Amino acid sequence: MSESEPKTGGDFVREGVDEDLRTGRFARPVVTRFPPEPNGYLHIGHAKSICLNFGIAADYGGRCHLRFDDTNPTREEQEYIDAIKEDVRWLGFDWGEHEYHASDYFERLHEFAIQLVRAGKAYVCDLSPDDVRAHRGTLTAPGRESPWRNRPAEENLDLFRRMRAGEFPEGTRTLRAKIDMAHPNLNLRDPVLYRILRASHPRTGSAWCIYPTYDWAHGQSDSIEGITHSICTLEFEDHRPLYDWFLEALGVHHPRQIEFARLNLTHTVMSKRKLLELVKGGRVRGWDDPRLPTLRGMRRRGYTPSAIRAFCARIGVTKFNSRTEFELLEYCLREDLNRAVPRVLAVLRPLRVVVENYPEGKVEELEAINNPEDPAAGTRRVPFSRVLYVEAEDFMEVPPPKFYRLTPGREVRLRYAYFLTCREVVKDSTGRVVELRCTYDPATRGGDAPDGRKVKATLHWVSAAHALDAEVRLYGHLFSAQNPDDVEEGKSWLDGLDPASLEVVAGAKVEPSLAAARAGDHYQFERLGYFAADPDSTPDHPVFNRTVTLRDEWAKVAKRQAAGGAATS
Ligand code: ATP
Ligand code: MG
Repeated sequence: MSESEPKTGGDFVREGVDEDLRTGRFARPVVTRFPPEPNGYLHIGHAKSICLNFGIAADYGGRCHLRFDDTNPTREEQEYIDAIKEDVRWLGFDWGEHEYHASDYFERLHEFAIQLVRAGKAYVCDLSPDDVRAHRGTLTAPGRESPWRNRPAEENLDLFRRMRAGEFPEGTRTLRAKIDMAHPNLNLRDPVLYRILRASHPRTGSAWCIYPTYDWAHGQSDSIEGITHSICTLEFEDHRPLYDWFLEALGVHHPRQIEFARLNLTHTVMSKRKLLELVKGGRVRGWDDPRLPTLRGMRRRGYTPSAIRAFCARIGVTKFNSRTEFELLEYCLREDLNRAVPRVLAVLRPLRVVVENYPEGKVEELEAINNPEDPAAGTRRVPFSRVLYVEAEDFMEVPPPKFYRLTPGREVRLRYAYFLTCREVVKDSTGRVVELRCTYDPATRGGDAPDGRKVKATLHWVSAAHALDAEVRLYGHLFSAQNPDDVEEGKSWLDGLDPASLEVVAGAKVEPSLAAARAGDHYQFERLGYFAADPDSTPDHPVFNRTVTLRDEWAKVAKRQAAGGAATS
């Protein structure tokens, strides 16, 4: 991360850390962790958590662990573990040697469970999963105690040993904490700590046939690692009393849990289940589809790690669930790209222009500025010749008022080149415009008229003989609705997918310097937006993804919000 990035700070999570250091609740170092479950790919919501946890560790000179919460072997895969590490690194964070797995603690967690059994605080229950649920009660009605709740410790120890030894079929027994079946917080109604699961685990193989639940593993894993601040999303607020109960009962290191609101974004979904459904159902082209909010999708689209970090810093952390405007994310992205990305000339939908008074066979190499925001980026040469392409939508035969671009008789500027006047329109037999016959003014080389005459439009262009054919992929929101999770009755959230979210432009023409584009390289196509070369590119056939347009919508949205416009939720 660079020094110039906006500093976060002053949020309630950091205030909590400050307080704990002041009161001596914890000594330094501050230790946080990012604890993904390896059952899917990371998305921008995870980035918020990563930036927060690694950011706090950095601010306080502490450390942040990367811990895989791999307690559910039926849904977890090595593929996800590898991808998560790659994505966290890409985002710019380093856990050093502190990579851990909840599965590393299976033995310790098992010992902790035996400690609870010995203390009369856990028991083996023979109820089926359905019966456990049925006994649980509701928010308004207390639960019922299991008939197995008062087994003597010795019997529990023996049964638990035999559960581990594989003597019982799946689903026949669980180990449960003995807390309070009438507790107003349902999480404390004798939660299950272990279930029998004959599943092979990506790391422990077939060593275990009982697996700890997430609730049992999570807090104790934090404790084992000496985490000081266990930062998690709001839905775990109700689990905190349970985690506290476990840690108290075991008498071990007790991290402080602080909850914050998860990130939701307009026009997209963030739940891993839904993302999996989009990918497995073939609704998108894969986990790295540039329309997805996954970090690999965003990377392919052309998002930079610094833009994502800037966005996370900008949204900060709160205690209230809300939905952040996608426009803000795009604003942060543009700010970041604007600084460093080279400008090039590319035409998405080419319209042929013949410059009648330009000599046949002549080619000039004109000087073009690489980045007006960065003088050090220098200049390059772009070829100009008699036959050019301009953007089809920059011409109108019968222009509406305020259309200042090409039209018969009108003079415009070609960027870095000359003034050009449209003289004649050539159409095919269907009446479609296929070519413009134009003239240029040789005195305007570089784009300025010595006599001071002005034009109202500057167009991008490429030389037909020199341009490369390219494929350009344009993206819209995956969902047109602001909140795709909010579904009308009788409809599926999948119905909200926008079929126009991907538009492939096959016949684009780009300046020859783009032959050097490598996957991941960023460009601003002048007037069209920011683009990134796609991994599908080859030297003779570059493919570009539009990362974001140049039009800033955030200012408008922010103004509406400031005026008291309804916040989306
Ligand atoms: P899902 O509910 O979609 O399965 P999850 O929260 O269970 O997602 P994890 O892999 O457990 O996914 O998440 C790892 C960490 O990232 C957790 O600490 C979680 O709180 C955090 N996280 C996940 N989604 C978001 C989000 N949208 N905003 C902020 N933090 C998130
Ligand atoms: Mg989770």
